[in-house]
Amino acid sequence: MLKRSIVAVALGLSASAPAQTPALPFVLKQVGPGVYAAIDGPEHKAGSNAGFVIGDDGVLVVDAFFTPDAAQALVGEIRRITPKPIRYVVNTHYHADHTGGDQVLRDAGAVIIAHRNVRGWVRVNNINLFGDRITPELKARIAALPLPDVVTDKDLTVWLGSRKVVVRTVLGHTGGDITVAVPDAHVLFAGDMLWRKVAPNLIDGSVAQWQATDADLAAMPDAAQMQFVPGHGDVADVADVRDFRSYLLDIRRLVAAGRKARLKDEGLVQSVATKLRALHPDWTISDRAIAAEVKYMDQELAGTKKRPVPQAD
Ligand SMILES: [Zn+2]
Repeated sequence: MLKRSIVAVALGLSASAPAQTPALPFVLKQVGPGVYAAIDGPEHKAGSNAGFVIGDDGVLVVDAFFTPDAAQALVGEIRRITPKPIRYVVNTHYHADHTGGDQVLRDAGAVIIAHRNVRGWVRVNNINLFGDRITPELKARIAALPLPDVVTDKDLTVWLGSRKVVVRTVLGHTGGDITVAVPDAHVLFAGDMLWRKVAPNLIDGSVAQWQATDADLAAMPDAAQMQFVPGHGDVADVADVRDFRSYLLDIRRLVAAGRKARLKDEGLVQSVATKLRALHPDWTISDRAIAAEVKYMDQELAGTKKRPVPQAD
């Protein structure tokens, strides 16, 4: 009671005002029985999407957001919904906007599962991800990220009692990507293999592999009834998977055409941006994103793209 009044006073509220629950950095959406998507809020404080699956005897979390605070808020929401132990967190890839909160989940009891390449990349390659936006604080935080406990370069089945969760290795976004499916609920956590109506980050990607993986996702036998939880953007359906794949194919086609017309640098970016925005008018495509996408696509087509290199154990 005392604490509440102090907070209320600090916030300039009357001491008798009801306690305000701090706003969550994500929106929690139930996408199946015991299956939840945690969708990054409008202010992007969580940095990416996450989610969790409740089985008979425990909880499996998919991704850990960018900030420990957001991961802590996720643990709070899980605790509000179920007393079952948090047993696993599966990282869909190494990028810090998906792994930044791993330590919070490990402290809550989770074993960290990831693609085998994540161990070699999570503390090193994440520095590149931020480019000129890196700060000393962020560098220190990246250097201290926990390494995954269980790694694989093959598909895995995780049983939560009688509930089957399928972890699949896929190609395209980083070279160490996995998706997480809950077959009984027709839900697939796609990680950054899928972005809904928002320009994807191609820094480590191979668009050639990526679009092929999305074609596979759209061709899954139960695709029409599935809900796809993307890495960024709202909960998606198979039409969104096709839309995202056509965005990738459009970038590749437009950059290839610009190269053929001998466009370069800013000229190439402007030419692609205008056409891409016209083709995808309901997408959020920032100037920064499009400039980076065009650069990386240009490198991929030129055969000069540098992708993360798998490290020895
Ligand atoms: Zn990513």
